[in-house]
Amino acid sequence: MAEKVIIIGSGPAGWAAAIYAARAALEPLVFEGAITFENQMAGTLPLGQLALTTEVENYPGFPFGDLEAYLDSSMEKKQRQLMAPHEKEGVSGPELMELMRQQAKNTGARVITRDIVEVDFSRNPTQGRPFVLRDSDAQTHEALSVIVATGARANYLGMESEETYRNRGVSACAVCDGALPRFRNKPLAVIGGGDSAVEEADYLSKFASTVYMVHRRDELRASKVMAKRAMDNPKIEILWNRVPHEILGTESDGVTAIRLKSTAAEADIEKEVSGVFLAIGHTPNTVFLGDSLELTEKKYAKWTRPGRTTTSVEGVFAAGDVADDYYRQAVTAAGSGCMAALDCERWLATKGL
Ligand code: NAP
Repeated sequence: MAEKVIIIGSGPAGWAAAIYAARAALEPLVFEGAITFENQMAGTLPLGQLALTTEVENYPGFPFGDLEAYLDSSMEKKQRQLMAPHEKEGVSGPELMELMRQQAKNTGARVITRDIVEVDFSRNPTQGRPFVLRDSDAQTHEALSVIVATGARANYLGMESEETYRNRGVSACAVCDGALPRFRNKPLAVIGGGDSAVEEADYLSKFASTVYMVHRRDELRASKVMAKRAMDNPKIEILWNRVPHEILGTESDGVTAIRLKSTAAEADIEKEVSGVFLAIGHTPNTVFLGDSLELTEKKYAKWTRPGRTTTSVEGVFAAGDVADDYYRQAVTAAGSGCMAALDCERWLATKGL
């Protein structure tokens, strides 16, 4: 029997879609992604980008307060024990994602912890030929409709030295790696000038002796409140008009320094650092789609009707950062996940599926 809807992805968009689809009696099956070393390296583990952040201060419904008791009472015991202890006055990214997952499961969504690695959208469910999806355990699954909510992952610069020292001082996730002993009381570099760069620099400043924020222009892209946070932090030094030229290191110590080019015709400079954290934007997770779905120039899934989550294939919907290179917020992703489930429910009903 074909599934009524398969949801691929487990960020805010995936879980919101699952909650709405389950409440519409579509019995959604969610592929939340596999827990593998490859996914860890690529930044594509289950629960998405939010699971790699710290405090979430802009998701409505979570004012400051002690969440401990709520987490204890709302989560399955087994899952709660796997989570890091709650320490802050407010919700953290990983906590928010676990809460969304729990809520989706409570509504009846079924969850499989595997990736979808290949899709066949050339078939037509309205003619009795459901879509076929293959998972990372080589199992195939049929579906009358699909919601793609696979999000986006962190970018790297593509320098050879970056690859050489990946995980030996080079990282794209301060929250995952920043507390490692190798970074404690050492100077570190964060590359980028957006909100993520500030967030990473701010977080790292708790452990590091100094954090150099390396930005290629003379003005931050980050929002005013975040930019102020960077400027006001005595441990953060912004290196304006600079881009990495080479990451330097040794076999035994990993990263030891970074050489920076000027974008304003100044001489190269070198800074001693023990770690380099990339915060230069994201790439949508659409490779597994091949050419089955129309993508934008930047390889995001393309929404084909304004204000709808429809894609170039009838019966396939896209939600969240995989289709949105503009807002990219947890709350907008969750909102579009809800839209995708409603679009999907209405499409199935129209087609009598
Ligand atoms: P972003 O806003 O796209 O910023 C990327 C930064 O990396 C930019 O400063 C960019 O420089 C720089 N960059 C890109 N490619 C580069 C390269 N090849 N070499 C050197 N620098 C490069 O991405 P983001 O900071 O990840 O933020 C994404 C979205 O999430 C935004 O909408 C943001 O508001 C949101 N977000 C919000 C929060 C929060 O509110 N707490 C936290 C994190 C993210 P240019 O400025 O010169 O382009």
